[in-house]
Amino acid sequence: MMQYREIGKTGEYASIIGLGCENLDGKPFGQIKDTIDAALEIGINVFDVFMPGNEIRENISKALGGCRDKVMIQGHIGSTDIRQQYDICRDLPVVKKYFENLLRFFGYIDFGMMFFIDSQEDYQGVFETGFADYVWKLKQQGYIKHIGFSSHNPAMATRVIKTGLPEMMLFSINLAFDLYPAHTNMLSELHQGLNKMAFHGFDPTRAALYTLCEQKGIGITVMKTLGAGKLISVEHTPFDQPLTVAQCMHYALTRPAVASVMLGCQTRAEILDAAKYLDMKDEQRDYSYVMKTLRNDFAGNCVYCGHCQPCPAGIDIASVNKYLDIARLDVKNVPPSVYSHYSGLAHSGKDCIGCGSCERRCPFDVPIINNMAAAAELFQ
Ligand code: SF4
Ligand code: SF4
Repeated sequence: MMQYREIGKTGEYASIIGLGCENLDGKPFGQIKDTIDAALEIGINVFDVFMPGNEIRENISKALGGCRDKVMIQGHIGSTDIRQQYDICRDLPVVKKYFENLLRFFGYIDFGMMFFIDSQEDYQGVFETGFADYVWKLKQQGYIKHIGFSSHNPAMATRVIKTGLPEMMLFSINLAFDLYPAHTNMLSELHQGLNKMAFHGFDPTRAALYTLCEQKGIGITVMKTLGAGKLISVEHTPFDQPLTVAQCMHYALTRPAVASVMLGCQTRAEILDAAKYLDMKDEQRDYSYVMKTLRNDFAGNCVYCGHCQPCPAGIDIASVNKYLDIARLDVKNVPPSVYSHYSGLAHSGKDCIGCGSCERRCPFDVPIINNMAAAAELFQ
């Protein structure tokens, strides 16, 4: 069964598997319809449409048909195809023309995404040109329900969130990207081939971004979950062995604030394959074995892998650790949403009986018993 998570504080609930429609661009309508039908059948309710082309937008809208109001569209503002197939534009008349075209097909847009804010130039193009004002007005006028943005750069994404404008973001998250230094241009790195030698443990800027999102109630939808397929490829994986699709999904879905992974499925079979994640056991989703083959920069820090389960007291240890990490960012100002997530757990830190079985299983020497006690105290 599909699961749904709230996207930050938007009040909207996204299926944990979403459909990134990019790979449907250029495909025959029959294939697009069949893929979208399969997505709807398994309960997918969030679709990313960043593609600027008229034909693909029309085909997606046609394939959704009467289901438009049952799903959420993540539609991008500033995505054009003026100079090349996919282009970033901040020129307002052009931006408006492309976005109005998107509205023509979908009526309204659930998440109006300020497209591709990765660099200083992107930031200025959005916040110093009237672009952001245009997006704000779209929301005031009801053309978009929520403001979001997309980025691959953790430092820039942090800056955008701190403007207070967006309610959610589409960010590139996978295990390999999280091991790269924050300043790396991930798209060119992807293009050249992911390189294990560049990994330096979890990049602190990325980790801080995810916890900031959780703290501020900014929901994350995820792109590049599979690293453009490289993480699951025997030939291209940067790890000693490839991850599975489910393991990549689980990695992204276990980061703080993540609501949904937008997968680029292009056939019914790929949708059904991704849906297998929903019925898998924790062992099948566990990605921690890959991390053990890397230089051990993880000691003592929870990576939310779930390898420590099962707990005889029924505690979801990774979640307790996650909320504890967020609370520790600023113990005097723990957001109410984090308190409420913590208190919503069926069993929490106070239930720990100190059996130690989790610590024996944890590959990263996390002081779990101490963490459970710390969480119990902090959240009491
Ligand atoms: S405590 Fe260890 S095993 Fe458990 S989720 Fe954290 S890192 Fe993984
Ligand atoms: S030590 Fe506590 S958290 Fe760990 S398995 Fe035992 S009861 Fe669960």
